[in-house]
Amino acid sequence: MSETAASQRCELCQVVIEDRPGLPDVVTFSNGPQGSRSKLWSRVCQYVTDPERRRLCINQDSDGRGAEQPGDAFPDAPAIDLGKS
Ligand SMILES: [Zn+2]
Repeated sequence: MSETAASQRCELCQVVIEDRPGLPDVVTFSNGPQGSRSKLWSRVCQYVTDPERRRLCINQDSDGRGAEQPGDAFPDAPAIDLGKS
């Protein structure tokens, strides 16, 4: 059986959401590290208040995105390279 992974693009939020059967979806932001649907929601989608625009957003379903996780709303700390000295 082949993988049935598919990705969807949210035209409104300018992200790509990759469906991973059995695993949490991965959201690729236009910049910065990848995240989860709940992270996308806390950073972008919850600020979409206009009903017309909300219809375009593919991350408005609370069942699909799951509960908000600690840290979702905060920017990721810059990567620190500890490997070189
Ligand atoms: Zn969206």
